[in-house]
Amino acid sequence: METVSQLLESISDVGRDTARGGYSRPVYSTAELDLRGWFVEQAGRRGLEVETDRNGIIWAWWGAPQKGALVTGSHLDSVPGGGAFDGPLGVASALAAVDVLRQRGVQPNRSLAITVFPEEEGSRFGVACLGSRLLTGAIGPDKARNLRDADGNTFAEVSQGNGLDPEHFGRDEEALARIGDFVELHVEQGRGLGEEGPAIAVGSSILGHGRWKLTVSGQGNHAGTTLMQDRADPMVAAAQIIIAVQKSAAAQPDARATVGRLEPIPGGTNVIASRVQLWLDVRYPEDAVTGALVEAIHGKAQKIAAFEGCSVTLTEESYSGTVHFDAALQRQLENALPGAPVLATGAGHDAGVLAGYVPSGMIFVRNPTGISHSPEEHVEDDDADAGAGALADVLEGLL
Ligand SMILES: [Zn+2]
Repeated sequence: METVSQLLESISDVGRDTARGGYSRPVYSTAELDLRGWFVEQAGRRGLEVETDRNGIIWAWWGAPQKGALVTGSHLDSVPGGGAFDGPLGVASALAAVDVLRQRGVQPNRSLAITVFPEEEGSRFGVACLGSRLLTGAIGPDKARNLRDADGNTFAEVSQGNGLDPEHFGRDEEALARIGDFVELHVEQGRGLGEEGPAIAVGSSILGHGRWKLTVSGQGNHAGTTLMQDRADPMVAAAQIIIAVQKSAAAQPDARATVGRLEPIPGGTNVIASRVQLWLDVRYPEDAVTGALVEAIHGKAQKIAAFEGCSVTLTEESYSGTVHFDAALQRQLENALPGAPVLATGAGHDAGVLAGYVPSGMIFVRNPTGISHSPEEHVEDDDADAGAGALADVLEGLL
């Protein structure tokens, strides 16, 4: 019987990114396909029956496929230069948990499936949790088919090249009905679990999160001939807006607001920009507060822009409301894992998409660095084993 760290060790060479460090395993790349092959082989070794559904989700069955089964799983794709645990930890833990349950002699009352979801990170086609969104109908098949990667390939073309029929994409009633309960184990992505104390937490909710675009418009001009007092420089306004974003979020406990991307137009060293676009990411557990926070930022941005002789507009690009995991399932997880703290997360997950349709819950495993989507993401071997044990405890209670 392999431990979780042994399972992860067996894929530790797949998709290493020598330029960025860590791993780059975009969906349907050679690396992600190798990991899919590894999963199918591991499932086969355990006598699990493997099938890939019409949206590209892999299912490995312990027991016959049936309605109302217990389902656990995660994803194998990564962000560029990501860590070793975001995704694969949940898949490897599910395999290890099946071993533990069999060793305990558990006789399931219903079938168990392990699932692997494609394009969870959205790092290739731009939409996170694309597999679970297609399964549930949260994204329409037409929109999914036409998503393009950086090389201009559509999701339809790439999927077809990997044996799927894009005409069959879309909400899959039969597959959805098979999920009686869904539990995803995932590496914790912040500092929610301290160095001392429990290594495992139960998920309560996923913070609502959205993206907004702020466009600051001023007067493009010559960097040498335009006197300082004559300028309407949107870069100067944007700099102050970024500080206002930071101050506004810091004043609201539990809020997170980030400007991680900024585009000055035209973007020349000797040119006062005519326009600056900046993208705002805001997260908070209550949707009304998120909305108020974004409005407050917009108001401050307007004042700042006016003072600099500029103007600003704000447009929403996407918003996902706060997800609360199924209360009854969460209680069952808490009962199976006494002493485990209950945590909200600021990261999106397939379990969060599925939660809108079927009872879903999450288990988090300690990440001592508190860093994720980066090579520094880490899980100690003992904590990984504790995670698989915790997943086995939870599954045993639900089977
Ligand atoms: Zn993940």
